[in-house]
Amino acid sequence: MIVLRGIPASAGVAIGKVLLFDSEDLLVPHRTITEDQIPYEVLRFEEALIQTRHQILKIQKRLADELGQEHAEIFNAHLLVLEDQTLREEILTGLKTQRLNVEMMFNEVIRRHLRAFSRTEDEYLRERTADIEDVRKRVLRNLLGRHADVLGQLDEPVVVVAHSLSPSETAQMHKRHVLAFITDIGGRTGHTAIMAKSLEIPAVVGVEVATKRIKKDDLVIVDGTHGEVIVEPDADTIRRYEVEQRRNQEISRQLLQVKDLPAQTLDQHRVVLSANIELPDEMPSVVAHGAEGVGLYRTEFFYLNRTDLPTEEEQFQAYKSAAEALKPSPVIIRTVDLGGDKFFSPLDLPSEMNPFMGWRAIRFSLARPDIFRMQLRAILRASPYGNLKLMYPMISGLPELQRANEILQEVREELRRDGLPFAEPLQVGAMIEVPSAALTCDLLAKEVQFFSIGTNDLIQYALAVDRVNEKIAYLYEPTHPGVLRLVKHIIEAGHAAGLWVGMCGEMAGEPALALWLLGMGLDEFSVSPVQVPVIKKIIRAVEHRTAQAIAQEALALPTGKEVEDFLTAHLRRLVPEFAE
Ligand code: PEP
Ligand code: MG
Repeated sequence: MIVLRGIPASAGVAIGKVLLFDSEDLLVPHRTITEDQIPYEVLRFEEALIQTRHQILKIQKRLADELGQEHAEIFNAHLLVLEDQTLREEILTGLKTQRLNVEMMFNEVIRRHLRAFSRTEDEYLRERTADIEDVRKRVLRNLLGRHADVLGQLDEPVVVVAHSLSPSETAQMHKRHVLAFITDIGGRTGHTAIMAKSLEIPAVVGVEVATKRIKKDDLVIVDGTHGEVIVEPDADTIRRYEVEQRRNQEISRQLLQVKDLPAQTLDQHRVVLSANIELPDEMPSVVAHGAEGVGLYRTEFFYLNRTDLPTEEEQFQAYKSAAEALKPSPVIIRTVDLGGDKFFSPLDLPSEMNPFMGWRAIRFSLARPDIFRMQLRAILRASPYGNLKLMYPMISGLPELQRANEILQEVREELRRDGLPFAEPLQVGAMIEVPSAALTCDLLAKEVQFFSIGTNDLIQYALAVDRVNEKIAYLYEPTHPGVLRLVKHIIEAGHAAGLWVGMCGEMAGEPALALWLLGMGLDEFSVSPVQVPVIKKIIRAVEHRTAQAIAQEALALPTGKEVEDFLTAHLRRLVPEFAE
């Protein structure tokens, strides 16, 4: 039995057998096919070859532009492998004679060639093995859509272990099939972790050595609450965790008793407690956990796991049904936040050195007004069906916000001309998640009706700590005095300008910090659906003035660790259920 430690990404305990994605991140499914499926497999293969060729040509063009033609020519060898007729024939013949799925056939044939090349005396051919290997991975990735297809089609429950999982791959998982997942890399507020929480799948990320130390079919216990993985546990340990699993279920059941009660303190201070959603089918979970609305509707899912762009009509229908489902409670739609750790196939966004500081969110929307306008039209058209609000992600300064509002105004006029109804007035907000926005809140306040603090990004920018990098996860501290001061400033500046201030970053869902935020006067808490009853329980267990006093005292402490210990101690005293 070995114990591996990582970053707790999504709470809960799971016990199960491992499905391991190999170190090349590619799991090749083995499927027999019928004769009439052959043309379809051939078509998939042709498409994957075209897609790979297209990708390689793009790389060549970039290399030629940036480094010169000779660097681009390195990839000519890759193109030759793709065009190799012998290879192609072998694969097509194999499909007919062996009746295996094309990724399996392709992998077998190309591996045979690789083995032959690596044994040859000819130095030139030996050197080609790296190119062939690269082409193998590229074509397989295109055939498989990486893990996504596999994760969506599991037929028995497993614990997934992978070097990395993208948010779109995680979105394919289903609780019925994926008991939990473990990754080598990643951080607690990366979108893979956020997605796991929404799907209520326990997860430990940033384990670093998971794919090295865990083998296929190993039995593991995943403790997503404490960030621990126990490999090949003994019978006693399994029993202990089974008890823990039952205890967790009991706690969740008890927490749900507060579901229909208001989020208000013992001395009647009322706050709004809403939920964040990543996928539209989470709406029932929002209601089941007693949220008062949606404080962050992430719209990136429209772009996940597909090859075409979402239409206005499709978005309109989704926003309309969300508005209707929660009416009269508010649903805050965030305009699309593509980029960062969220990459999408239909747009083929260029890869960047610093994606979190790059072309993403509102920057992307302003550069692609066609996509932005379509989304704004869909939101406005859905607005008469309930209580919709909208907000822009990653505003970094006034001109950006003004430009976004100008476009919104133009879209309103367009709809008027088209005779399409929309609600007026519609509350518009800015996410405050960039330090420059935090420090110029007074200026931004003139353009919007509310702020929503996005601490997942705000913390990474304020502390210069990449939110998905496990190596520096210890520095990612929501309790850092610098973070507390920024948050305090945003709340106060928002209130001074007459705005309500909410928070939709993960910080709002952390019990000890929720206590602090309550004391600081935060108006709205938007957290993952499972956290809603947890945060409600805390709010209902304290007096607002007590929380205020605690919040002030915490501000005087010099380190994140001291703030954390101080707030946790108070939380345990005030809400004994949180004492472990
Ligand atoms: C945030 O940054 O806190 C936030 C809520 O947005 P996202 O996690 O989608 O970047
Ligand atoms: Mg953000």
